[in-house]
Amino acid sequence: MNVIDRYLASFGSSCTSDLFAQHELEWIEATLNPMRELAYPKDEWGNADENLFENVDRPFLDEFVISRMQELNLPIQNSWPGDHSFAICLTHDVDRVEAYSPKVFKRNIAKQFQHVGRMKQVKLAINYLKTSVKQLLTRKKEDPIWNFEKWKQIEAQFGVFSTYFFFVRTKKTPIHLYDCDFELDDTFKMDGQWLSVKDYIVDLYKNGHEIGLHGSFAAAKDATVFSDQKRYLEQVLGQKIESTRQHYLHFQSDITPKVHIQNALKVDSTLGLNRSAGYRNGTAMPFVIKSNEGYIWELPLIFMDSAILGFQNMDLEAAKIKLIQVMDQVQAVGGCLTVNFHPDYVNEIKYFELYRFLLQVGKERNAYFGTCKEIINVVDVCAE
Ligand SMILES: [Zn+2]
Repeated sequence: MNVIDRYLASFGSSCTSDLFAQHELEWIEATLNPMRELAYPKDEWGNADENLFENVDRPFLDEFVISRMQELNLPIQNSWPGDHSFAICLTHDVDRVEAYSPKVFKRNIAKQFQHVGRMKQVKLAINYLKTSVKQLLTRKKEDPIWNFEKWKQIEAQFGVFSTYFFFVRTKKTPIHLYDCDFELDDTFKMDGQWLSVKDYIVDLYKNGHEIGLHGSFAAAKDATVFSDQKRYLEQVLGQKIESTRQHYLHFQSDITPKVHIQNALKVDSTLGLNRSAGYRNGTAMPFVIKSNEGYIWELPLIFMDSAILGFQNMDLEAAKIKLIQVMDQVQAVGGCLTVNFHPDYVNEIKYFELYRFLLQVGKERNAYFGTCKEIINVVDVCAE
């Protein structure tokens, strides 16, 4: 089955390529193909500059397909089981487990050292000494970003599960300025108990959540680095890793999908926006990205906390209105609203309350909730 047929199958069995002219099919295929992004200049993260993407505020491809089916009076069926009219995929990128740790601070300074000139290095060294002494003297018993158990609790309360993407440092990982500073042996406090990040990973998995890889900056462009991190996470988990999202949505169209495919990933959820909510490929449907080596499912990321509450600095009320607007669009096309909430923002009220609001409204609207892997398992069967 090709990329277009798989995409059209998201709208039911009567949606086939016969309904479209050749130039329309070519347009659909080009819009879904990330290779078109190679033409864009790069932003500060080395990604295609999303300010130049057009029409990202609507799932315009899905709306186009649905309007054609309506013109022809054809029945539209979505992919979701039972009577669910749309889906919500909950995800979390785990970038930090401590804000206030001499060990993490040391790694952070060491990382910065590699990327700055001599004068800045001297300043960093002085800063390091001063801050280390202060941190050792006053190391807090409670770190300002702890309370990670609240994510687990609220998800249990609503009976939903999510995919947690973990950043992994190994000895072979080349460290980039944008990379995270924790290691899987680091310990932090959750629910009053000290535990390692490894324990946290296993605990989440045992409680029904999916564990995915949040690749380092280099991993997005190097299959060997990616595979090293994936293997380490699989050892910790004792299970295969099937889902991924790159840190900072770091993505280079001609390389990153190949890295994922070579590493036998089933689903990637990197194609979203760092500065707003929306539809990078004009769709809220999972779709297929192909390379010579095979294919991978892309589960487009549509709504990220840091883009709306951080970059756009919306207050809670404005963010709720934005979230509802996006949910209305996804529900209208029968798509999947994939969201990303960073666990380390748990104590920032507007972040956590927006998440609670999402779960409440999603449940009221009878969304199908699934992890990345579950969403793709549903779609994969429908598309066969
Ligand atoms: Zn990240």
